[in-house]
Parts: sequence; structure tokens; C-alpha cells
Amino acid sequence: MHTLAAGTSYADLMFQGLPRIIATAFLTSTDGIVVIDPGPSTSLPALERHLAALGAQVADVTAVWLTHIHLDHAGATGTLLRKNPRLSVVVHEVGAPHMADPSRLLASAGRLYGDQMGPLWGEVLPVPVTAIRPVRGGEVLTNGGRPWRVAYTPGHASHHVSFFSPDTGIAFVGDTAGVQVMPGGFVLPPTPPPDIDVPQWLQSLATIEAWRPSSLVLTHFGPTHTVASHLAELRDHLQMVDRFAREAMTRSGEEPDQEAWFTDRIRMEMTRRMGEADLRAYQVAGRFDLNWRGLRRFVSRGGR
Ligand SMILES: [Zn+2]
Repeated sequence: MHTLAAGTSYADLMFQGLPRIIATAFLTSTDGIVVIDPGPSTSLPALERHLAALGAQVADVTAVWLTHIHLDHAGATGTLLRKNPRLSVVVHEVGAPHMADPSRLLASAGRLYGDQMGPLWGEVLPVPVTAIRPVRGGEVLTNGGRPWRVAYTPGHASHHVSFFSPDTGIAFVGDTAGVQVMPGGFVLPPTPPPDIDVPQWLQSLATIEAWRPSSLVLTHFGPTHTVASHLAELRDHLQMVDRFAREAMTRSGEEPDQEAWFTDRIRMEMTRRMGEADLRAYQVAGRFDLNWRGLRRFVSRGGR
């Protein structure tokens, strides 16, 4: 458990037994506990241990705030609801129907993860509609008297939102501010299918920057305090991987060759800055082959 500010902390879910892949966050106050992005069901034992360290259990959680519905962020939500039917779920209105009925979400994820669905994510239960509090950005949520602004930050996912506390300067940005497994490491944009949109994503980075946050908390992984340089690097790398994808698509050869060229280019860029072991951690947080598929889909649908 790591404290970010009074009543605001994050913890490592030790996803797949590995450190620094998925962070979950807790807001604690006399109002009860808010969990931001509880992670997948497979790491629920870790989540419950972290709650115990706060002197709490799932029954004390009053709300789950989701940055987006991808299973590494939101997979455990329905299971938490089964354990505690009183908690409410804040999620963007476009993601909300897929939490209530996860069948399309599971079909879409199944196309990416195949027989790894169970081992990676575990059970994914529907969230009762009555528990869902849909947002679209622009709302102000409160916890313990502290306001948290909600902003719509699409690009990685069409239904992605971020949460910002002006009192503390902390912004929970999910995957919008990229993946940076270790402090100071390469800032990689995770670009899996199905709804990557590079211009929207760049606009979302401007939205986050306009908050003037002092810390960004990434799901993969943890806080960064050098906000301006972090966002500048992500902007550069988002444009770079977009260029790589377009170049790969103009190369002759079959699609697997194009994919290999794209993923090699990313690996080359990253190994300028880090070793193989660190590179592997990035690929657990977001597979490079899926980054290729997400960008290829974006480009081939006419995205610019
Ligand atoms: Zn993620």
C-alpha cells in the first residue's frame, strides 16, 4: 500500500504473480471506501488483502470508479457486486451497457486472448443495472468532502474517463497516460483493439494537461510526478507507433510479416532505454501484437 495523499493510496495487484503490472487505487474516508479500477477477478485475493491492510473488507466499499471497462481494469466489478450488492459503479455511459451485460465485452476480449481468457481474467459477472452510475465527463464526484472531477478521455477506449482531485493535484488516468512499468522507463501507448483513435487520444492528453495535475497515476504502473515530460513523451510515442503502423501497412508481404516489422520497431526503440527483463514486463501489461492490431484497425478504418 502506497499513500499518495491523505485518504488516497494505490497498491500492486501482483497480476500473474508479477510486480508493477496492475495498480488499483483506494479513496478512504468516513463515507466509506472507493476503489478505482479494481482489476480482474484473478487478482481479487490481492485486492482483499489490500482492503484488509486498510482495516476494511469488500463490505466497506461504497463505490467502484472505472476509468474504462477493459478486463484488466474492471473485470472483478461484477464479483465485487455479488459480495457487496450495495456498492455503486461509476462508468462512462458507453461502457455501462457492457458492464450490465458483458457478453459482447467477453466476445471481443475472447478474440484477443483466446484460451487465455480464464487464466488471465477469471470470472466476469454482470453488474446489476441499478448499481450503475453512468457518467459522460464534466461531473464532480465527492468522497469524504473532497471533489473529484470526471473528464471524458477517449483514444485508448471510446468510453475512457479520468478522475482528478484539485485539492491534491492527483489524477487517475487509467491507460490514457500510457504504460510506464518502472519510474523513468519508456512511456508506451497501449493500443489494443477495438477503438484506438489517435487524434482523440491526443485531445485527451490536452484535457488532462489542462487540469495542471501534480501527479498522474497510471494503472500500469503507479504515480508519475514529472507530468509535463511524461505527457510529452507519450505524445511523441503515440505519433511514432502510429507512423510505424502506417509504414508496416505499406510494406509488401503478408500481415504476419507486417506485424513482425511493427513489433520489432517498438522493441528496437524500447531496448535503447531498457533491458530484456523490463521489456517483458511491458508485454505483460500490453501485448505488442495487440498494439499492432489496434492501430491497424484504426488506420484501415480511415483514421488520421
Ligand atoms: Zn489497461
